[in-house]
Amino acid sequence: MQVNAIAAVAPDAPLERTTIERREVGEHEVRIAIKFAGICHSDIHTVRAEWGSIDYPIVVGHEIAGVVEEVGSGVTKFTVGDHAGIGCFVDSCRECENCKAGLDNYCANMIGTYNAIGRDGLPTAGGYSEQIVADENYVLHIPQNLGLDVAAPLLCAGITTYSPLSHWGAGPGKKVAVIGLGGLGHMAVKLAHAMGAEVSVLSQSLKKKEDGERLGADHYYATSDESTFEDLAGEFDLIVNTVSATLDIVKYLGLLKTSGALVQVGAPPEPMQVPAFALVSQRRTLAGSMIGSIAETQEMLDFCGEHNVGAEVEVISADQVNEAYDRVVHSDVRYRFVIDTSTL
Ligand code: NAP
Ligand code: ZN
Ligand code: ZN
Repeated sequence: MQVNAIAAVAPDAPLERTTIERREVGEHEVRIAIKFAGICHSDIHTVRAEWGSIDYPIVVGHEIAGVVEEVGSGVTKFTVGDHAGIGCFVDSCRECENCKAGLDNYCANMIGTYNAIGRDGLPTAGGYSEQIVADENYVLHIPQNLGLDVAAPLLCAGITTYSPLSHWGAGPGKKVAVIGLGGLGHMAVKLAHAMGAEVSVLSQSLKKKEDGERLGADHYYATSDESTFEDLAGEFDLIVNTVSATLDIVKYLGLLKTSGALVQVGAPPEPMQVPAFALVSQRRTLAGSMIGSIAETQEMLDFCGEHNVGAEVEVISADQVNEAYDRVVHSDVRYRFVIDTSTL
């Protein structure tokens, strides 16, 4: 099946319209008519080759929400008409220790939704397209009460923040700080608030303070103000860093309580400098976390359905994607651009 899509053709060229081929639905596969696809900063790091060289052309997008249009004969989990989502990966080896332990997002042979080779031997292509075919075991159910536009970003921004918040115990009595109020950051605020934690935002400025408070933040601080780091020393149990650029992480480690954890989810390409004493002196943890498993992604979607949590989105047409990329890079996003794929 030929479908319309938007592809990156070079690291420094605008994305452009194209068509791609989607395979026939296999026995255990579903075909989803994509309705909305979120723009994640990882899409931008990838197509601009900031994480390393890639093969062009490439169709990115791993925040996919749509409607099941066709199911293979062996499919048991989905029926035609279901609201369904796909996140950052479409398969894994299913045999390694991580896959068996339900940590398929950490499978060494996980197959990315894009920038990977699928089991059929062909390059995978992501959500900036009209249709996608995937194995039912890597497809998620989207709760009916969530609009598909506000649900799409949950498939990456939602799970990437839910997983560390859950793993490091965000909840009542815990002080959680979120660095950066962008796509991931605004989901971290909503989710940590829904989990019952006391939430602070650490943003570059106070420009988005009212938004942050509306999204569930109890406190909002500007990191451009040096006094923030003095006033908040030793304040937080957990800090989630969602920033796409390199920060002076040592300053932020100083905001942790004894035994606190700072979890890196932002993925700038440059290495971090961390002196041992920033960690050892207060038994602090500096950790990382990558998306979440399929099972945890479903758990997150169900949690969002129960708590009526969706993303704050700006729906755009295919023609606005390049402008949206530039706005994301300039921290001018409130808070996720989502492509209406009917405009492809
Ligand atoms: P985003 O929407 O661009 O948000 C990033 C936010 O970081 C900005 O809105 C801004 O917030 C802050 N920021 C940007 N540049 C900054 C700078 N130079 N100094 C200080 N703060 C800055 O990006 P996103 O889609 O949320 O993604 C964020 C990062 O997470 C990216 O690196 C992405 O690749 C990564 N990511 C990782 C995973 C994972 O599994 N670990 C999954 C998805 C994405 P303020 O304006 O509030 O300061
Ligand atoms: Zn992403
Ligand atoms: Zn595996």
